[in-house]
Amino acid sequence: MGGASKLGVLVKGSNYLEILADVDTIVFDKTGTLTKGSFAVTEIAPVGMTEDKLLELAAYAEHYSTHPIAVSVQKAFGQPVDATRIAGAEELAGRGIKAQINGQQVLAGNAKLMREFGIEPEDKQLVGTVIHLAVAGQYAGYALVEDELKPDAKTAIDALKKQGIRQTVMLTGDSDAVGQKVGAQLGLNKVYTQLLPGDKVEKVEELLQAASGKGKLAFVGDGINDAPVLARADVGIAMGGLGSDAAIEAADIVIMNDEPSRIAAVRRVAQKTLGIVKQNIVFALGVKAVVLILGALGFATMWAAVFADVGVSVIAILNAMRALRVPKDI
Ligand code: ADP
Ligand code: MG
Repeated sequence: MGGASKLGVLVKGSNYLEILADVDTIVFDKTGTLTKGSFAVTEIAPVGMTEDKLLELAAYAEHYSTHPIAVSVQKAFGQPVDATRIAGAEELAGRGIKAQINGQQVLAGNAKLMREFGIEPEDKQLVGTVIHLAVAGQYAGYALVEDELKPDAKTAIDALKKQGIRQTVMLTGDSDAVGQKVGAQLGLNKVYTQLLPGDKVEKVEELLQAASGKGKLAFVGDGINDAPVLARADVGIAMGGLGSDAAIEAADIVIMNDEPSRIAAVRRVAQKTLGIVKQNIVFALGVKAVVLILGALGFATMWAAVFADVGVSVIAILNAMRALRVPKDI
């Protein structure tokens, strides 16, 4: 665990290192995990209002949200928000926001959210995350926001595959167009899109059942909505910088600097540590057995007994200290 912390990875218990060494399926969340989660607003298409008004309403609706999309909308708006005009703001996980602004109901979120409230959003098959807006039950247009892959996302997936990870999967609440694009760019084995938080748990259950006996499943996520899945997976890994408190709390392993490539590095630490543990067990029991037999036959001296006891312990400890030396590269 000390070795892992040198890599900026917090491991909450030695048992998680043991499980991590046996992981052969890794399931990733998309936004904030494989992508930066800092969205740039690239297009605003209002219906029956100005672009500025649409951005303002979106920023007001998103005021209380800490979702990466919300933070980006605030930044694009770039003006102070008068919170007294907002009431009853509610975050609907995996869909968006519902709030009262100036006494009118405003919805900001994906197509799923719009349909839930009986509003048919414009469907232009855009590649990018679309925030639809509706005011008082009327469709009011959309803002298109785009995210980028984390610079080391591809290296991380490649390194994990090289380590013998059998399956890399991505789960996302985002649209199919965006999900498939990211999946193809990274060379992931499977991509599941348009999932609500509950669907993510279900998918992970399915993958857990399909996993072969010994192979374990790790889930990597960052959002509040990922917390149930982080708890359900054999080992849950959260992004510590961008991640929500709930995700960090529910996770077994936390990556402080949000770099997905650290997963491959900490898995190497886990495998090395487990190797050292096995060496020490075999060595300590082996020497003790030999001295025991020699003692029974009358060949062992007092010094041999001291070596078999204290000497073996010291050597095992020195061997274990190798676990603190961690390679910086992956
Ligand atoms: P992911 O699974 O990729 O991490 P989330 O489950 O957090 O994504 O969100 C899924 C989708 O729900 C987003 O792509 C977005 O369309 C919509 N959404 C979620 N939260 C918000 C929000 N605060 N504002 C607007 N849209 C949101
Ligand atoms: Mg996320």
